[in-house]
Amino acid sequence: MNDYDIAIIGGGLVGASLAVALAESPMRVVLVEAAAPPASAPCWDERCIALNDASRRIFGGYGVWGAMRAEAAPIVATHISERGRFGTARFAAAEAGLEALGYNVHLRAIGAVLSARMAQLSNLTLLQPARLSVMRTGEQSVELDVDAAGVTRSLSARLVVAADGARSAVRDLLGIAAERRDYAQHAIVSAVRLSRPHQGVAYERFTPDGPIALIPKPEDAASLVWTVPDEQVEARMALDDAAYLAQAQECFGGRLGRFVELGRRWSHPLARVLSGSLTAPRTVFIGNAAQSLHPVAAQGFNLGLRDVASLAVEIAGAQDPGAAATLAAYAARREQDRGRVSDFTDLMVRTFSNRVPFLAQARHWGLVAVELAPPLRGAVLRQHLGHLGLPRAS
Ligand SMILES: Cc1cc2nc3c(=O)[nH]c(=O)nc-3n(C[C@H](O)[C@H](O)[C@H](O)COP(=O)(O)OP(=O)(O)OC[C@H]3O[C@@H](n4cnc5c(N)ncnc54)[C@H](O)[C@@H]3O)c2cc1C
Repeated sequence: MNDYDIAIIGGGLVGASLAVALAESPMRVVLVEAAAPPASAPCWDERCIALNDASRRIFGGYGVWGAMRAEAAPIVATHISERGRFGTARFAAAEAGLEALGYNVHLRAIGAVLSARMAQLSNLTLLQPARLSVMRTGEQSVELDVDAAGVTRSLSARLVVAADGARSAVRDLLGIAAERRDYAQHAIVSAVRLSRPHQGVAYERFTPDGPIALIPKPEDAASLVWTVPDEQVEARMALDDAAYLAQAQECFGGRLGRFVELGRRWSHPLARVLSGSLTAPRTVFIGNAAQSLHPVAAQGFNLGLRDVASLAVEIAGAQDPGAAATLAAYAARREQDRGRVSDFTDLMVRTFSNRVPFLAQARHWGLVAVELAPPLRGAVLRQHLGHLGLPRAS
């Protein structure tokens, strides 16, 4: 009873998406998640995540997008600019022939839809709360010790999927190194109510200290993601709501009218963490366990979902999901997309958080070129939509 084909370690958004992606698979799957299920209720200022068009398609293929769409705000256009300088880059869904470039969706809603689907799956066993503590890799399978409520349970699986986040326990247990780049910045995330409708436009504004982004939420509200240097985060978090709103408004400007109400604030330290390898014997890394990125380009989960889609395609065509050939094919599929998106995101952070004068000129002309040069526009748009990284079968 404790022998599985696939053990997914970590039931965050990426691990849960993989369990759903394997719904039609004959493989026996176990998902091990350390945290108890969250008990959050709908509220106006809850956290959102921006999904791009590729993610919409992937979730559509798994039959779960319809339910998520009900709690999503379409992003019909984006507007990128730099504070204090001319030059903007703008993109509209219409130029890509789409209803939306992406959707800003409540995290709670995505989690709830994935959980409801997982509860219907006869090939899935869910162990939650339960924490992986030991791995022993053999020729044909991996033995795992999982601790739940003070009891240790042993399992085995032909493939272990590490979806256990940026501080991956699987990576540590296997002694795989990770490359970490600390950006010395925090993102402060909150919601704001606006004095006038956002009309589906997402704004990203670069400032010398870091970007400030406003992404449409359902109703007349927006997700506010404000990146600040580490040394400023404590003081910003300590401001009362009125003072914080006033500073955010001053930094962002008046394009969206007045910020009239602030929701709860969360702060996140920002770093890029790249696993030294995407695979190990009978083990594969996906989502943040494989690569955790700065949120400036809203790509982290979108990239992780393409990991899911690619791995599901490889597993569907495999006799043995943990065979070396299956894992090598997965790594080859993901290499380019992962490298392109993580390098592009890193370049954006470093170029736009820099006060060096010649980089200021480069940024200005870069934005002008993206706005005016069709081939460059097309390339940036395709990257943003995520289409370049979709596996053929999704
Ligand atoms: C401020 C901010 C804004 C962002 N905005 C966007 C956006 O708009 N669009 C986008 O695409 N991305 C965005 N991202 C990135 C996105 O949030 C992440 O890429 C995504 O949530 C990663 O999901 P994950 O499931 O891989 O990892 P996690 O969410 O970290 O989940 C890992 C899970 O593994 C479990 N776990 C850990 N260790 C063990 C163990 N030993 N045993 C069992 N379980 C274990 C944990 O409990 C956790 O549930 C943003 C990130 C930040 C910080």
